[in-house]
Amino acid sequence: MDINKILSEIEEEIKPFLQQGKVADYIPALAHVDPDQFAMSVTLFDGTTYSIGCSDTKFSIQSISKVFTFTKSLNIYSKDLYKRVGKEPSGNPFNSLVQLEYEKGIPRNPFINAGAIVITDTLLSHYKTTNDTFEKILDFIKNVAHNDDITYDEEVYLSEYNHGYRNLALANLMKSFGNLENEVEDVVRSYFKHCSITMSTQELSRAMLFLANHGTDPISGEKFITDNQAKRVNAVMLTCGHYDASGEFAFHVGLPGKSGVGGGIVAVVPKLMSIAVFSPRLNSWGNSLAGTQALELFSQKSGLSVF
Ligand code: GLN
Repeated sequence: MDINKILSEIEEEIKPFLQQGKVADYIPALAHVDPDQFAMSVTLFDGTTYSIGCSDTKFSIQSISKVFTFTKSLNIYSKDLYKRVGKEPSGNPFNSLVQLEYEKGIPRNPFINAGAIVITDTLLSHYKTTNDTFEKILDFIKNVAHNDDITYDEEVYLSEYNHGYRNLALANLMKSFGNLENEVEDVVRSYFKHCSITMSTQELSRAMLFLANHGTDPISGEKFITDNQAKRVNAVMLTCGHYDASGEFAFHVGLPGKSGVGGGIVAVVPKLMSIAVFSPRLNSWGNSLAGTQALELFSQKSGLSVF
C-alpha cells in the first residue's frame, strides 16, 4: 500500500470540503482558530509517520482527551467503573441532558460529556487533588505519546469554564443523583482542563498507537493496559466515539474513532496503524466535517476498516 500516494490524493480531494461546516463557538476561545486548516497523520507500528497539511500545528484536543481519561480510569477501576457509567451509544448529542434525568444520573457512555465528567470524578477520587489529577492525566498522555512537550491552553480552559453552563448543569444533575463523589466545581474544572490539552496530528497519531496494538506500544514494548481493556476502549470508540453520528462514522469509515469539537479526530486500524486528522469546521453533530471525509477517503482508498 502506497500511503504517500493515498495521502496526496486526499490532500487534493479534500479541498472542496474545507469551506463547509462551522467552527465550534460555544467555547469562545475556539471560535478564533483559523477555520481553513487541515492536517492528517498516519503512524505505523515501526514508528514511521506519514503526514499532510499542518501536521505539527497544535490544536485543542477537547473530547479526544476522553479516550485517555476513560483508558486511565478503566485501568484503575476495571469493571467497577460500569456501576457509574454505561457502555451503550446514547443516540443523543454530546451535551444532552434529557436522558440523564430519566436514567437517574448514570450516563450512557464515557464519551458523551456527562460520562466523561463522571470519569474525571473517578480520577479525582483516586488522585485526590485537582492539580494531581490533571498532572496524572497529562503524564499519561505524554507517556503514550512518548513526548514531553505536551501541555494545555489556559485561554481555552478559562473560556470554557466561563461559559460552561451546560456541563455544570450535567454535573449538578449527576451530583443530585449521587453519581459525583467530589465537588462539582473541582470536577468540571478538571474536566475543562483536560479538554484544553493541545496536540498536533503527528502527536495524536503516535499517542493512539498502543490502542491499535492491544494496549502495548508496538515501538517501545511498554504495556499501558491489558488486551481486554484495549478491546473495550476500541469497542466504545466504535459505538460511541462520534455521539449520535457514531453509526454514520462506522458506516462510512468503519474504524474505532473519537472526535473533539476542536476539529480533531483519532482513529485506529487494529494491528496496523493509528491515524489523526484535524480540520476545525464541524458538521451538525459537532464532528470535524473535512476530517470525517478524509478518514472515509482513507478507508476507501486503502481498503482498511474493521469490517
Ligand atoms: N469540552 C467540550 C465540552 O464539554 C468537549 C466536547 C467535545 O469535544 N465534543 O463541551
